[in-house]
Amino acid sequence: MSLHPSYQHVVVHGLPYDRGFSYGEQTKEKIQRNVTYYKQPGKLGPWSSVSRVIHDCYIPGLQRYWPSGWEEMRGVAAGAGVSIEDIVMLNARYDLSHVKFEAVCEEKPAIKEKVVDEEQRVEVAEECTSAIILAPATKDRVVFTAQNWDMSHRLVTEDAIIYLEIHPDVSENIPTMFLVTEAGQLGRSGCNGAGLGLTANSLQSDNDQAPDLSTPIPPSGSLRRLFLEQSNYSVGLKCIARTPRHVSCNIMVSSADDIGMCLEVTPRTIFRSVISSGSEKPYLVHSNHFQTSPFLAQTQISDTYLGGSSWYRGKRLEAGLREKAQRENLIERDIVVAFQDHAGYPHSLCEHVVEEQSTNQENSGPYSGPTSTVCCVVYNLSKRTVRVCKGCPCEGIFQDFELR
Ligand SMILES: [Zn+2]
Repeated sequence: MSLHPSYQHVVVHGLPYDRGFSYGEQTKEKIQRNVTYYKQPGKLGPWSSVSRVIHDCYIPGLQRYWPSGWEEMRGVAAGAGVSIEDIVMLNARYDLSHVKFEAVCEEKPAIKEKVVDEEQRVEVAEECTSAIILAPATKDRVVFTAQNWDMSHRLVTEDAIIYLEIHPDVSENIPTMFLVTEAGQLGRSGCNGAGLGLTANSLQSDNDQAPDLSTPIPPSGSLRRLFLEQSNYSVGLKCIARTPRHVSCNIMVSSADDIGMCLEVTPRTIFRSVISSGSEKPYLVHSNHFQTSPFLAQTQISDTYLGGSSWYRGKRLEAGLREKAQRENLIERDIVVAFQDHAGYPHSLCEHVVEEQSTNQENSGPYSGPTSTVCCVVYNLSKRTVRVCKGCPCEGIFQDFELR
């Protein structure tokens, strides 16, 4: 497969079903390839279980908590020529990969509830490092949020990521959005025309569990898009707080109005770390383990991250930002340079594929095989611009986009 220097930029307009259809049509082959990949045996659990969770939990959850997202997914499925179950699966692959499912025996409905998690020891290979940088740290007094997204290197080689620019219908009163996501999903990180930004990091806790099949719960990606569909920061926070979920994740939410938060979301509790323009450190960084003070001060919920580069990536990013931030002199280029850090190579902040990875790892699990930084993105929330590259920021070619 020939390698393109950049990911596809997909622009869609209109009401949820229509814009979804257009998105599906424009990225049909990529979506079909992602569906085929995640449906392989051993990736997300037995299809009998996955399908039951989709029908009993995620679809009713979408219909109740994010009906426009459900319509958009229906459109994507129709446009891409795949089933709606396939699109819901792609949008729930984070949630599905965080719990292990047993096979469901179709003949014995009495054990239907046996779609339960085993031990929470799920190897998470989706590892990101994120930052929010407020105006007082920057030369131009602008707010940034930025991320290195580390995941299966196949996303790079198969061109499976897209930049999704959404112009909702005027009647919806939803701001324009720019999202970075896997083809078929409705968004992983992004910013909107109202100056709100969001990145996210994988987290694992002992509160994570397989969903109760009698309770509607949307895939946790809904929390991200529901936030970005708002023009008001506080309304976006309510959307996150009030939408149920069955796994943990860290959501970094920021606003051009100089507010930033890490929300360490667990199924029952959200632990917060907040900065504003008056904060001693006008920036926040996060990787893939719990780090907020409220979380560390309690003993009810445990972090079940198995250990690894998360324990230094955030510190390395902070080290890269600190000096210029303290001098109130950070510019976009400095942020990109900070994300190019190679301490701990190849599992560095800027993560690289190494040959041995492809031969040493078993061919099972959703993220098996070599991993790398598949995308680096810097959102300038004040200017509504995006600088993004495919692959590692030390070698990728950056492109600039503007939200209008
Ligand atoms: Zn690099």
